[in-house]
Amino acid sequence: MKLVTFELNGKECVGILSDDEKQVCATKYESMLELIKSGERPEAGEAMDIGEVKILAPIPQPEQDIIAVGVNYKDHAEESAGHLDDCSEDKKTTYFGKHVNRAVAPGDPIEAHEDIESDLDYEAEFGIVIGKEARYVKAEDAFDYVYGYTIVNDMSARSHQFSRSQYFYGKGLDNFTPMGPCIVTEDEFERPPKLAIKSFVNGELRQNSNTELLIDGVAALIEDLSKAITLRPGTVIATGTPAGVGLGFNPPKYMKPGDVVRCEIEGIGVLENPVVASAELFKK
Ligand code: MG
Repeated sequence: MKLVTFELNGKECVGILSDDEKQVCATKYESMLELIKSGERPEAGEAMDIGEVKILAPIPQPEQDIIAVGVNYKDHAEESAGHLDDCSEDKKTTYFGKHVNRAVAPGDPIEAHEDIESDLDYEAEFGIVIGKEARYVKAEDAFDYVYGYTIVNDMSARSHQFSRSQYFYGKGLDNFTPMGPCIVTEDEFERPPKLAIKSFVNGELRQNSNTELLIDGVAALIEDLSKAITLRPGTVIATGTPAGVGLGFNPPKYMKPGDVVRCEIEGIGVLENPVVASAELFKK
């Protein structure tokens, strides 16, 4: 089942996408978090053409910061080796909180923050959405705690990421977390999911990998995190990005206002956003 959050006449609602993705059926839930916490299976109500509604990020305002994984594909570790302190294979998994005031909807602008940053980078990531409270979960049970999967673009302000001793500022800028277009429920994919993951900038293929190449997969991440941290329903884990980010090119291929970044994951969909200057977004 593909679930979306949409807006119609100023109200948010959770909907179920039709198989051809041309229609969305309303449900009784006003937010994805309400649905996930209910533990219920949503029933399809009135069907509308998808063009009649505004699709939002599936969880527009996460209750907590996104849990992001630092380096979780071998090829990205290699391209990052000159930029990050330690990308060696024996290092424990790096996690950081990605602050998100409001997740960016499919098609909506990524804010360029041109007054403070010129090294704007994209990171297509497979996002895990937790379905029920998880503490001390063994890897073999981990998929029972997954509600579904989405796409996260872990936008990064590289100069701030590397010039400050923590990632909070460089990863947590406003309008820096595109998410969507939907959540695909866990039962739709094999365990673990083996899905093509790609990104494009202005139509040029940049990242091209598969979630089966994650160093720490879904089960390992949930086991490791839940040894110490209670994962709540609706928590999003961004599992890291494969090689091909702007940083990995020589010279780097950073983005600028006017560029369009497109992230794709097989079976989930397409998340495409333009980069727009802050001055453009906020001019009166
Ligand atoms: Mg990332």
